[in-house]
Amino acid sequence: MRTTLIKTFTFEAAHKLPHAPEGNKCRRLHGHSFGIEVAVEGEVNPQTGWVMDFAELKAAAGPVIEELDHRYLNEIAGLENPTSEVLARWLWERLKPKLPLLSAVTVRETCTSRCEYRGL
Ligand SMILES: [Zn+2]
Repeated sequence: MRTTLIKTFTFEAAHKLPHAPEGNKCRRLHGHSFGIEVAVEGEVNPQTGWVMDFAELKAAAGPVIEELDHRYLNEIAGLENPTSEVLARWLWERLKPKLPLLSAVTVRETCTSRCEYRGL
């Protein structure tokens, strides 16, 4: 039996998108309450009944996501153009070594807009 576990994290941060078209509102400095979903996929261990402990997932991903909290994302190395897409890959690259079962990272900027990255 294979399942996907998803844990949600939130953080607050400011950014601007310097490569958005001239006049686009995203070029202006603004902030979001970002939501991050970290998904791991794998076989359910017949002994424990889980793919992995949610607490382990939190322990692995939490500190990486905390690095972004209350920051100006453009100042962070690798996030000079912090679109949701770039942020999802930035997180993937840091989380995959800690979470071999990582299957997706989703970055939610607003209630209606999010980006899912599966490492391809
Ligand atoms: Zn934005």
